[in-house]
Amino acid sequence: MDPEEFRRNGYAVIDWIADYWTHLAERPVTPAEPPGAVAALLPAGPPEHGEPFDRILADLDPVVAPGLTHWQHPAFFGYFPANTSGPSVLGDLVSAGLGVQGMLWASAPACTEVETVMMDWLAELIDLPQRFRSSGPGGGVIQDSASSATLVATLAALHRASGGRWRGNGVDRRYRVYTSTQAHSSVEKAARIAGLGDDGVRAIEVDPKTLALRPELLRAAIEADRAAGDVPALVVATIGTTSTTAVDPLPAIGELCRAYGLWLHVDAAYAGAAAVCPELRWSHAGVEYADSYCFDPHKWLLTGFDCDAFWVADRAELTGALSVLPEFLRNAATESGAVLDYRDWQVPLGRRFRALKLWFVLRWYGAEGLRAHIRAGVDLAGRFADLVRADERFEVVAPHPFSLVCFRLRADAAPAADIPAADARNAELLARVNATGRVHLTHTRVNGRHTLRLAVGAPQTTYREVDLAWRLVERTATTLLGGAAE
Ligand code: PLP
Repeated sequence: MDPEEFRRNGYAVIDWIADYWTHLAERPVTPAEPPGAVAALLPAGPPEHGEPFDRILADLDPVVAPGLTHWQHPAFFGYFPANTSGPSVLGDLVSAGLGVQGMLWASAPACTEVETVMMDWLAELIDLPQRFRSSGPGGGVIQDSASSATLVATLAALHRASGGRWRGNGVDRRYRVYTSTQAHSSVEKAARIAGLGDDGVRAIEVDPKTLALRPELLRAAIEADRAAGDVPALVVATIGTTSTTAVDPLPAIGELCRAYGLWLHVDAAYAGAAAVCPELRWSHAGVEYADSYCFDPHKWLLTGFDCDAFWVADRAELTGALSVLPEFLRNAATESGAVLDYRDWQVPLGRRFRALKLWFVLRWYGAEGLRAHIRAGVDLAGRFADLVRADERFEVVAPHPFSLVCFRLRADAAPAADIPAADARNAELLARVNATGRVHLTHTRVNGRHTLRLAVGAPQTTYREVDLAWRLVERTATTLLGGAAE
């Protein structure tokens, strides 16, 4: 494809995406096709001869689009949001077009320097303490995901807890990681990859009301492990847990980490974006105790996947754990010590120019545009929660400080008030609502009970979609509970 062909076909691709976005609300949110339906539309093997681009593009509508759950749909309320935006897509396009490898400063200087500055900008936007900025000992880097951020934080914590022996000897003692029962599964996965095994993770119980980690139980666990000769290495605290957006008490956890010498990693994958709004920064109280912190602009800050923003308070501790310098990567800039080489801040060597999409997003929206986006999500979630609360058959089961509402039919709204039956009824409610294809919600378990989750994040979502979701939920509930049909 020469540049002129690229130009022509590129315009057609942009047109296709713009049309997709324009008509997205008319599509069902989730596909109706059974498993295998998409694969069955594809030829069994690759083409022997190249094809014209318009034929390739023409297959997006019949093959790909009907087989998607549309995450950008205004009535998509599942999981956590993963919203992209025009400036993000265009920034990614430029990154793809440049095709540079930012593994070393020397391999693409602008790739590294724009990223360093974007991470400082973001740190300022969410008011992270100064020590995370690149002007001091700390600094930020873009990881592909919060899971990777937790992994590298775990490795840095092991490096520290072993007094540097981990690099040479691997896991030579029983190192322990502490997190709450509500933490994301990536904590367990990171511990497993790091060689600690599932046993290496202590899941600390939470307060049944706030669903936040109980610091007194954390202290007891650390002391018990120390008494047994184990080495407490890391606490992973969460701002905005995956199930319910609970906020762990960072000040108390931070004091414990300081007292016992543990690394504190703060996982704010979804809720970190909220800190662009001053009125939501209470959720970050205590972040000054953190050794590392991350959040995902690819969740709630209009930047397409993948973009996890990860900071360390002391970058030497991270690079001390991860740096490897083979001969073929040696260069004068690295040896001068005057540059950052992001290959030492992550698991892979290679890295693409992800900072471009962030640069485009931050400039297009500005801080006020980003704040407006977060506030809209919080407002829409608040409206949904009000609708739920106004119906006595339902309950909101956890605080909803951000844009997620957890709710369910009360057990005593069912003819028989036994919990398994109520759980089954809630599961059936969710299945029926989702089967309409008009909205998409997901579920979790809160205090052992089946619970529905409605998460807002798409910039196109309005009261219309939130009200539609509620209408479908409450009418379906009426049918399920034996009242009038929908
Ligand atoms: N941590 C928390 C609190 C999350 O909610 C999630 C995903 O929802 C993750 C980590 C994993 O995010 P990622 O897909 O960026 O690894």
